[in-house]
Amino acid sequence: MDEEIDAMPLKRSTWTEDAGASRAVALEVLRNGPLSRSEVARRLALSPGSLTRLSTPLIRAGLLREVGETSGGRVGRPSQLIDVVPNAQAFAGLKLRDDRVMGVITDLRAQVHKSAERPLTSQEPEAVADSIRDLVDELGAEWKHPTAIGIGLGGRLAAHRMVRSAAFLGWDDVPLAELVEQRTGLPTILENDVVAFTEYEHWFGAGRGLSRFAVVTLGAGIGYGLVANDAVVADEDHGIGLVGHWPLDPFGPVCSEGHRGCAKSILTEGAIVTALSGALGRPVTYEEAMDLGEAGEPAARRVLDDAGEGLGRLLAAIANLTMPECIVLGGEGVRLASVAREAVERGIAKDRDPRTRKLDLVIRSGSDTEWCRGAAVLAIQSFVLGARMAA
Ligand SMILES: [Zn+2]
Repeated sequence: MDEEIDAMPLKRSTWTEDAGASRAVALEVLRNGPLSRSEVARRLALSPGSLTRLSTPLIRAGLLREVGETSGGRVGRPSQLIDVVPNAQAFAGLKLRDDRVMGVITDLRAQVHKSAERPLTSQEPEAVADSIRDLVDELGAEWKHPTAIGIGLGGRLAAHRMVRSAAFLGWDDVPLAELVEQRTGLPTILENDVVAFTEYEHWFGAGRGLSRFAVVTLGAGIGYGLVANDAVVADEDHGIGLVGHWPLDPFGPVCSEGHRGCAKSILTEGAIVTALSGALGRPVTYEEAMDLGEAGEPAARRVLDDAGEGLGRLLAAIANLTMPECIVLGGEGVRLASVAREAVERGIAKDRDPRTRKLDLVIRSGSDTEWCRGAAVLAIQSFVLGARMAA
């Protein structure tokens, strides 16, 4: 059995034949298309003749296609619109939790076609890699066999290949990408889940076209992602969860690290559930806490408004320090941002100079597929950017 796994060759295909100007055309259309030929030429400073020379082989290869004409609101000859063929390739995006692996299969623009999940029968790396292979097989059979696999997890990772540490799995130095490649024969890329989430927003989501924006995720922990100068700021330290211990309230509860009133002690699912269960004298779930708060139950209202104000102060600190054009809020605990929206605005107002531009907040649904979609974007990037990601 093992020999069979080892013998599976890795199929590393590339999107465009050359990594130079023709890839730049394909990338521009992937991230911003459909675009008129004249717009692509303008953005890349190409002559119409050069663009034709570069785009014709891409159209012949089935990467790009012509999708009609636009006059662009101007008088004169209409310009041909070109776009990628998104269904030409499929990508698997997975998110690892302590008890299951969740996944989606997407097209080239990270549009989700199918989602599925598998329980983890064991947290042993080999067994987890087996579950990943089974899930990828299932997703591939549902729609289309994937070209590459992206995996996001809440931990510290090295070089997109290795899990340095993931406390929720009890892992240290696990070569997960290699284990998955041995089983699937597909190029596999790992990244911190918040970085992956941020990459989705950067390429295809609310951050498309912005040079600077931030992401905050709420749930079991607090995640923070930043895009500056049109690039995600990524670092091995990401998986430590540094922003989770940002101080918010000197009189707040104490976190596991001994900080009083840090973000983690106020904003996480665990913090909210603990505070409200204590107040009501019975155990409540996170969703129940949100429902009670929405219905105006006084104890829930107080707990959620305190948390909402803390979230507002965290957002104000991020805005003051990094000056994002917008902040995207996501993660399975994101409902707090809507249920306590007024308190969030109050918290922002406390720490923001009134002369500042109003903070543009984008609130995501918090569904698990949003994490998986981020991981799929890693696979898409590794495919379309080629060697740049492997470095
Ligand atoms: Zn703390």
